[in-house]
Amino acid sequence: MRERHDVVVVGGGPGGCAAALALRAHAPGLSVALVEATEYAERRIGETLPPPAASLLRHLGVWDAFAAQGHRPAYGTAAAWGESQPHENDFLFQPQGVGWHLDRAAFDGMLSVQAERRGVAVLRGTRMAGAAREGDGWRLRLSAGGELVARLVVDATGSGAAFARRNGGARNRVHDRLAGFCRFFRERQAADPRTLVEAFADGWWYTAALPGGLRIAACMTDTDLARGMGLETEEAWFALLRESAPRVSELLRHAELVGEPVVRASRSRRLDAAAGEGWIAVGDAASTFDPLSSQGVLKALRSGIYAAYAAGDLLAASDGAGMRRYRAFVEREFEAYLRTRTQYYAEERRWPEREFWRRRHRDAPEPAFAA
Ligand SMILES: Cc1cc2nc3c(=O)[nH]c(=O)nc-3n(C[C@H](O)[C@H](O)[C@H](O)COP(=O)(O)OP(=O)(O)OC[C@H]3O[C@@H](n4cnc5c(N)ncnc54)[C@H](O)[C@@H]3O)c2cc1C
Repeated sequence: MRERHDVVVVGGGPGGCAAALALRAHAPGLSVALVEATEYAERRIGETLPPPAASLLRHLGVWDAFAAQGHRPAYGTAAAWGESQPHENDFLFQPQGVGWHLDRAAFDGMLSVQAERRGVAVLRGTRMAGAAREGDGWRLRLSAGGELVARLVVDATGSGAAFARRNGGARNRVHDRLAGFCRFFRERQAADPRTLVEAFADGWWYTAALPGGLRIAACMTDTDLARGMGLETEEAWFALLRESAPRVSELLRHAELVGEPVVRASRSRRLDAAAGEGWIAVGDAASTFDPLSSQGVLKALRSGIYAAYAAGDLLAASDGAGMRRYRAFVEREFEAYLRTRTQYYAEERRWPEREFWRRRHRDAPEPAFAA
């Protein structure tokens, strides 16, 4: 197989699907393919969707399909942050009202189906295995055999930014070493469905109720600090939970562990450039926020839409101004995010001598470059 498309989107998470959907709406003359490594069968991480996402889902024309999926309404978060007593942050006081706790695999899968219905050629269970320049565009080698040829590639591969770093010459600016040690549970008895965040000496925990009687809980800490904690083992994870997070622990009291643990990098990072010759990066590929912000999915949808405008203008009208604006937008957005992150971590002062918090209380540390 060797197919030609104007745009190939690599990665079918929220960022890639939003880019594909928005391209079909903004530049319907362009042919678009989307390559997704999975079949959306495994559980996915990243579940809290804040209220402003509703307007983006409507803009993408997927609101009805989203509403029909039965994701769990979320009315806010509670955070034991800065003190042991949790304080509440109610979505009800936001003008857009309610948010959601998603079944992420179902959500991402739905977006890919909607893209397919709008004329995107979706290849599931297919990984981009390599890429090379061909003329002004790209030749992509697929894991399933065969190739795709594209004028422009959208890198939507998540925080690994596989295409931009290997083929686009972009570099990672990395700000920390945060990772999530996550486990899923089945609730035997309904507990507080809100997201609960609880800080401890070496990081923070969170838990949230998911659709279908499931619950996620995660310990968030830096990878080098985690080595000493043995968080990969069930015993150490539960021992630390009981010792350091009484409120999260209480919510899990009537829940039973299901499935395998999942470890996910959650570093704050961005590419030094979110677009280059013949490519543009969206969602976590362009920049990754701390999960504390609960902004990752929202940001991925938004950047997919903006990138589609930039790519559409470039390919359909030979206008590169949108690509330059997009790069500047990602940089500005990330700088604003870093300021908010610094302010939020500064509110937790109970363990000033601990390495996890010392790192976050330093003023604007310089990012490290990683290839
Ligand atoms: C512990 C944790 C908790 C989080 N909690 C939240 C939260 O509560 N709320 C929130 O909004 N965000 C949260 N996030 C962040 C959120 O998960 C991400 O921001 C979001 O998933 C980004 O979407 P994306 O489409 O850019 O990337 P992803 O969702 O990572 O999607 C990337 C896609 O690319 C595919 N892919 C990768 N490589 C290839 C390849 N070579 N070929 C083909 N396909 C490929 C993958 O299979 C995947 O489908 C959390 C993250 C972590 C780690």
